Amino acid sequence: MESKASCNCGAVTLTLKYTDATKLRSILCHCVNCAKSSGSVGSNYIIVPRTTVSVEGDLTTYVDLKCESGLPLQRKFCGACGSPVMAYSAKLGDALCIIRATMVSIPVKPAAHTYLRNAPEWMPRVEGTSGFKGAFGGETM
Ligand SMILES: [Zn+2]
Ligand SMILES: [Zn+2]
Repeated sequence: MESKASCNCGAVTLTLKYTDATKLRSILCHCVNCAKSSGSVGSNYIIVPRTTVSVEGDLTTYVDLKCESGLPLQRKFCGACGSPVMAYSAKLGDALCIIRATMVSIPVKPAAHTYLRNAPEWMPRVEGTSGFKGAFGGETM
């Protein structure tokens, strides 16, 4: 299957190829930097192999050196409208993170909340997800 997405203004479009939407991995990251980058309670990522994603249009890159993981994270966004589009760090190997907001047509549910300790108290958890205080795989809450 193929799903197309775009930033808010449409200058950047992204195409994702996948076979089964239920096998796509998704997380909700509430770390301070993801919250600032998204302008909300965090970023919802879909993690996919790089080779399945193609981008048209110009992305601007901000190298985030202050991530709690300690690894530089490349945050790629549309320079015209500011919409976050994707993110990448060396930890991801040959995968990258697509920002869920650009892929609204894909029915993929997050499997985990990360950095939940930073999420606002009023924020509900997605049913059936695991919640980590910090990074994925660490202490749960
Ligand atoms: Zn745009
Ligand atoms: Zn984060």
